[in-house]
Amino acid sequence: MEITEIQVDGYEKVVRARDQQSGLHALIAVHDTTLGPSLGGMRMWPYASEDEALFDVLRLSRGMTLKSAVAETGLGGGKSVILGDPKSMKSEALFRSMGRFIDSLDGIYITAEDMNIGIPDLEVVQKETRWVTGLKRSEGSSGNPSPYTAEGCLIGLRAVAEELDGDTSLAGKKVVIQGVGAVGGALAVLLKESGAEVTICDINEARVKQLQDEYGFDVVSDDEHLSVECDIYSPCARGAGINDDTIPLLHCRALAGCANNQMLEPRHAAVVRDRGILYAPDYVINAGGIINVSVELLPGGYNEAVAREQIARIYDNLKKVFEISRRDDIPTNTAAERLASDRLKAARAASN
Ligand code: NAD
Repeated sequence: MEITEIQVDGYEKVVRARDQQSGLHALIAVHDTTLGPSLGGMRMWPYASEDEALFDVLRLSRGMTLKSAVAETGLGGGKSVILGDPKSMKSEALFRSMGRFIDSLDGIYITAEDMNIGIPDLEVVQKETRWVTGLKRSEGSSGNPSPYTAEGCLIGLRAVAEELDGDTSLAGKKVVIQGVGAVGGALAVLLKESGAEVTICDINEARVKQLQDEYGFDVVSDDEHLSVECDIYSPCARGAGINDDTIPLLHCRALAGCANNQMLEPRHAAVVRDRGILYAPDYVINAGGIINVSVELLPGGYNEAVAREQIARIYDNLKKVFEISRRDDIPTNTAAERLASDRLKAARAASN
């Protein structure tokens, strides 16, 4: 395997691996390890070029630094991508090769699941390196992060409710959820249990029907869901849904959901704010999953009670973000970056 370093300003280490035998072509970006070893998922995608893959891994690894800094997981930010078609290119040799690539970084990058990578793939990676998280609960690992992401989001929604109406109660709040998969579906149930009026929307009709039959949620089509008058619109499907075309359609008082990278561009958070809509920055409110995984790395190993205690801090983190936004008169996404960079600066100052 040939491993080469790519120099990128502002990143601690970016490396490329090419292995003819297994067909591996992969990149790992370690953005920042000030707060601890970098952790971020492994993604497999049929990128059109290495430049496209590099753009993705750089953006995602920086995002992980911010997310972990705000969530105080004791971790830094990193990410890895495998270039290739997940439908046709997965093999034992490929993931063993990826494991050796990760191992070559001696623990400054720790991997987990991301798009198109599942536990069976990571189990092969683990044959070559110990720097793997998010494996089965039965093996002492932290298991599926989705329920914890949903739980963290619910806790964050209480901070949102308080910011809107001075009360953390979600009873009677009208919430529209786009995407009721692993996270959005669990969130819908938790919200209903908290007394909220939940409307769901998903392109997967079977999933919608299943949830409607079981819990009696109201349903709206994907075309119409943005225009539904509600207190909170919760994007839990895919990223980039909030943009110049969709913002004028919003009829909510707050925007708060689990989907990553909800804003097509960072400037859209300011446009949302100008419309008087409160935005809970995605990486602050959806940190439950990464917090749960990070507990695996504590000296005592994974402990669900500890994970839950730490996930509860999402409430305080969002309150801080809203405070900074008000105090400095800036959009909440800029406020979250400020909170993350203050924590990074404090850690750097303490270590000097
Ligand atoms: P998932 O694939 O289980 O669910 C996504 C759901 O969205 C699916 O049911 C899908 O049919 C639906 N969907 C896709 N496009 C849609 C559209 N245009 N309109 C309506 N519904 C649509 O994924 P997930 O694990 O629930 O993750 C959801 C989002 O949360 C993703 O953006 C993910 O990156 C983010 N996230 C997930 C976690 C986690 O722990 N799983 C953690 C942090 C962030």
